[in-house]
Amino acid sequence: GGLPRFKNFPPADFTLAAERDAYPASIAKLRKTMGGTVPLYINGQDVTTADTLDSYNPALPSEILGSVCQAGVEEVDRAVEAASAAYLTWRDVAPEERAEALLKAAQYLKDNVHDMAALQVLEVGKQWDQAQADVGEAIDFLEYYAREMIRLGKPRRMGRAPGEMSHLFYQGKGVAAVIAPWNFPMAISVGMVSAAIVCGNPVVYKPAGSSSCVGRALVDMWKAAGLPDGVFNYCPGRGSVMGDHLVDHPEVSVIAFTGSMEVGLRIQERAAKVQPGQQQCKRVIAEMGGKNAIIIDDDADLDEAVLGVLYSAFGFQGQKCSACSRVVVLDSIYDRFVERLTEAAKSVKLGPSENPANYMGPVVDKAAQQNVLRYVKIAEEEGRVLVKREVSEDLKATGGCYVPLTIVGDITRDHRIAQEEVFGPVLSVMRAKDMDEALAIANSTKFALTGAIYSRSPRNLERAYKEFRVGNLYLNKPSVGALVERHAFGGFKMSGVGSKSGGPDYLLQFLDPRLVCENT
Ligand code: GLU
Repeated sequence: GGLPRFKNFPPADFTLAAERDAYPASIAKLRKTMGGTVPLYINGQDVTTADTLDSYNPALPSEILGSVCQAGVEEVDRAVEAASAAYLTWRDVAPEERAEALLKAAQYLKDNVHDMAALQVLEVGKQWDQAQADVGEAIDFLEYYAREMIRLGKPRRMGRAPGEMSHLFYQGKGVAAVIAPWNFPMAISVGMVSAAIVCGNPVVYKPAGSSSCVGRALVDMWKAAGLPDGVFNYCPGRGSVMGDHLVDHPEVSVIAFTGSMEVGLRIQERAAKVQPGQQQCKRVIAEMGGKNAIIIDDDADLDEAVLGVLYSAFGFQGQKCSACSRVVVLDSIYDRFVERLTEAAKSVKLGPSENPANYMGPVVDKAAQQNVLRYVKIAEEEGRVLVKREVSEDLKATGGCYVPLTIVGDITRDHRIAQEEVFGPVLSVMRAKDMDEALAIANSTKFALTGAIYSRSPRNLERAYKEFRVGNLYLNKPSVGALVERHAFGGFKMSGVGSKSGGPDYLLQFLDPRLVCENT
């Protein structure tokens, strides 16, 4: 018996006509049904609120995906109460049975891959292949954490002393607040939520405002999996109205967050304060920002390096915490590399992600657009613009949230653009006189999330292995696209606290270990 060994869900294969045709069909189907009111889901019931927030297509902001009900503090209280009540039974459901719910959820996503991915194409402007990879990653988290829980669910015999029998085992910590980002709207949400749930912790889930319709799809997924009422509560809301209230709630035991450093640090500070009636210390798992570098050695395969940097910097418009925002180039190859990179950047097509011919689409919303434009200006002031490509006037006239694909040269480590996370398609090129300096530049930010090096020299690859100090380092590969298990993901320094998602230590953060020793 037992489950087959974990395997990653395969990427989209667009050589198959069926796969190519699925997208226009799913997108057309979605356009017929979308745009209505999206209720909250608390204790197995839809709940509507007077306050709503429209989620729109960033390529065409007049197109509304849904009018999303917004939780206030009252709805948060109801959701936490429901989760708290559900905890008393859910924590004692057998680990295998909890794992079974995840496997059923995974099956639901497998049966609806294209519809799930199409939702992201329209709601956050993800390209087809990347939207499908996101749904695939959600499936992977479900399949992987199900297996992990089965592994951890078996009580472990401790010691062999005569006259006693000791067992170590785990129990869920309690109600989990999951605060999710919009950039991997299904994968990261499902990852954090399913980890909590499989460990026996009911969830109050707050999706990001700009991806709340993808977030609502989790309700359908858990319904299909037959999850008991109260174990998953969908609670979108304005951070300024209910964010602190959720974090501060005395009955919340775990807070799983992925997002900006500013919000992550605020959550940690607030979670440390004990509220009246609070019975437990809160655990915070926070995945925060990055300022990731790719080093180009003087003997790098430039065909590979140019494509790798381009994809790492501009894939999904650079809106990944793993995105490359600094490319550190060895002096002797600097001019050659920069010429090739700028040529390549000038050749890609820009426009709505709905059209698979476009390499780069709009950023997620108007606020993101303003923020990126501010950084483009800073980059222009600090460095020398090598590429600044805008969409056509026709596309600009649609009001889409477009920003220029920007590459600036002559950036040094003290520039703001070399230190602050932009979360958009702005790439700095930095010059290093040798590998020592390249590594020093790569390590010169407060973040430590991802990094990559393109080199043919075994000695320099080995040096990077030891000295390029980031959570996920890739040798002759892009800095993005981590796969569950194979590339367990997460950083340190100001990039976050907690162990790697999709890795063997992740679930332990949602569990309290217990030991029972019997005198025999
Ligand atoms: N896991 C993603 C990757 O490796 C990045 C996750 C994020 O942006 O938060 O590209």
